[in-house]
Amino acid sequence: MNLLGLSRPELEAFVASLGAKPFRARQLLKWIYRRGEADFERMTDLARDFRASLAKVACVSVPDIVSTRTAADGTRKWLLKMPGARAAEQVVETVFIPDPGRGTLCISSQIGCALDCSFCATGREGFNRNLSAAEIIGQVWLANRELGYDPDGERIVTNVVLMGMGEPLANYRNVLPAMRLMLDDLGYDLSRRRVTLSTSGLVPQIYRLAEDCNVALAVSLHAPNDRLRDELVPINRRHPIAELLAACWHYLERQNGRSVTFEYTMLDGVNDRPEQARELAALLRGHDAKVNLIPFNTFPGTKYRRSPAETIRRFRDLVVQGGVMATIRRTRGDEIDAACGQLRGQVLDRTQVRLGSRLVRLAVRA
Ligand code: SAH
Ligand code: SF4
Repeated sequence: MNLLGLSRPELEAFVASLGAKPFRARQLLKWIYRRGEADFERMTDLARDFRASLAKVACVSVPDIVSTRTAADGTRKWLLKMPGARAAEQVVETVFIPDPGRGTLCISSQIGCALDCSFCATGREGFNRNLSAAEIIGQVWLANRELGYDPDGERIVTNVVLMGMGEPLANYRNVLPAMRLMLDDLGYDLSRRRVTLSTSGLVPQIYRLAEDCNVALAVSLHAPNDRLRDELVPINRRHPIAELLAACWHYLERQNGRSVTFEYTMLDGVNDRPEQARELAALLRGHDAKVNLIPFNTFPGTKYRRSPAETIRRFRDLVVQGGVMATIRRTRGDEIDAACGQLRGQVLDRTQVRLGSRLVRLAVRA
């Protein structure tokens, strides 16, 4: 049994099955996450016989580093793999983005993505598999170790964003325990505003999340109307904008959240016109919403181009004049293919059907 990735209740159930008291689970959490320790022998305040019984049935198995790249701006990208993974198994991509007083870790939730957004390198590559909870939290574990985290010193990873490869809400079962460990005060003890889940809009899972976990929500909108969003974000054909926004406002109310961030990738001549900025502002005005404009990051084979910087600034100004807060995301790490939407691994198993193309076929039949 790999203890990495078990949330507190799961770990308590596990130690109970070994006949140990619940506080042992709390000790284990502290060792594994706070101190980054994977070897039971070094967990010195655990009773010797408990350590011995753990060693027989459990382990803390952490990812191995396949490679590391660092960009001139300090952005770092790791390719990771779980021990024992088959040689042809896909690697997991994780990016660390340092800023003064802040360190953001961008983690992946799946290898590839089935949702097939037309401007995303991950989506273009197709879907391979879900990551396990151990692989998801293992990215945070490993980044802390690599960055020299000291439990008594300052935090290095101050924020975690689920904005790497994959659609986190399509891997709900494994993402949920991993997020709980990020928030747990014996885990990474991050405040709920410092853990952000980004989704392309899986509406039923947004309602589920509203009941289960309190994190910051970011939603990939990218278009101010259904006609254009159907084309850019194919899941919109199943869950159109009105339905998606209703789920967002429900989430805020249920979790007493501050605001939802709407991501909007700026595509030259596609979604960056002044009337589209006004339409976007009209859609969100009066709600607790922020718009984050992402300059498009290019990748081989794409038909899109990044909007010029001046167009992006004008678009932002129009959204703000329309009564909605808007910011422009700074591009980081693009020379190491670590910028938003550039993570793509190399998908080896293409047997899975892309959701986008499946939706197209459904639409034709209907
Ligand atoms: N699947 C989730 C999270 C991963 S993508 C989602 O879609 O929200 C993180 C953000 O990067 C999303 O807003 C996504 O739409 C955006 N993105 C994807 N491809 C991009 C590209 N080529 N350039 C800029 N942003 C991109
Ligand atoms: Fe998947 Fe997000 Fe990329 Fe869309 S933008 S294909 S949901 S990773």
